[in-house]
Amino acid sequence: MDNETVSFYSRRILTEQGMVEGVLQVADGKFAGLIENPNPAQIAAARDFADQRIFAGIIDLHSHGYRSWSAKTIDKAEIQGLSKILPSIGVTATLATTSGWKAHEMEMLSAIAEALDEGVTGARILGIHMEGPFFNPDKHNATPREEVILPSVEKCEAYWQAARGKIKYMTLAPEMPGAVETIHWLREHGIVAGAGHTLADDEQMRQAVRNGIQVSIHTGNAMRQIDRRDIGALGAALLDPEVVCEIICDFYHLAPRMLEIMFRVKHNFDKFIMISDSDTLSGVEPGTYFAYGKRVHVHSDGRILLDDGTISGSSKYVLYGMENLIEKLGLAPQRVSRMASLNPARLLGIEAQKGSIAPGKDADFFIINDRYEVQETWVEGRQVYTSADPILTNEHFSQFCQKLD
Ligand SMILES: [Zn+2]
Repeated sequence: MDNETVSFYSRRILTEQGMVEGVLQVADGKFAGLIENPNPAQIAAARDFADQRIFAGIIDLHSHGYRSWSAKTIDKAEIQGLSKILPSIGVTATLATTSGWKAHEMEMLSAIAEALDEGVTGARILGIHMEGPFFNPDKHNATPREEVILPSVEKCEAYWQAARGKIKYMTLAPEMPGAVETIHWLREHGIVAGAGHTLADDEQMRQAVRNGIQVSIHTGNAMRQIDRRDIGALGAALLDPEVVCEIICDFYHLAPRMLEIMFRVKHNFDKFIMISDSDTLSGVEPGTYFAYGKRVHVHSDGRILLDDGTISGSSKYVLYGMENLIEKLGLAPQRVSRMASLNPARLLGIEAQKGSIAPGKDADFFIINDRYEVQETWVEGRQVYTSADPILTNEHFSQFCQKLD
């Protein structure tokens, strides 16, 4: 199909300018054109999606896994599985997001790098997001405390080697000894530097931004909160006009009215990126599981909790958050789509190729019905998912994860 043009008609195609009626043309993996207000003959020549909406593909920069698949693996096949499951929720590109795994960290980075070199067939995996291990030990949250180590350039160099230069993003606590040199090293290597799992106060966060921190990781979660005498990393991230804020919009990690505060204070929708922070147990049937040696409770409202109540990521996904923001907070769809697609592309410096429906860009998009159920997903002009496809489950899932009730 490489040389032929495939056309899609919808009364609701979401472009950067807003919703338009049109025929979207795809050829050679790219958006070839968008005919607005098409005539009946042009509509008849296209696949007709009527009122179903066509959105730019979601770029989720913080996904540890989804629906039985995990990025925390030494098995290349698992990375391929992750790539194939993500289009079912509208994701067309992601970063394989790791978290501390001292015993196998180098092997894990190599396995991901190899999988990427061999090529995956679903969502594009643009590289690796290392969440940790350079956390503040007092904000380790779901990562075991003994996995946390001090920031170190030497360690980064070893990670870089193992990952064949595919690390694109790193989360660290900028107040820890060694962080300044590490942040400089990250930026010199073109890696996005994010502050997270941090107890940085206002002044430390401002200093961290001057040192090269660009992003606030799952803003409001696993960081110092706003206090009347010290607005903490959270306040500093919201007030600084340059800092990009990752936000989890499942309405549990951030209350809807907290999101309203964030949008008003920052006053710039270009400085938010929606993330899932999803993991292996996201999207699975709610209940109690025994996973990775721990009891884990998956709730239908977005929470995944350890026995002691610690949050361990979201059970939801970015598209669920988009529905929340559009339908419940009343945000304009093009604003929401920007936060889910264009802004993450911009942060990685790939906005000329990805992030919106525009002629010349990669044809990454998905089609949803009124219930926000994905009907089809296309990556670089290839159909990678339809709602008729069976859901692909990891056959090894039951070895490390059992449902208890
Ligand atoms: Zn985290």
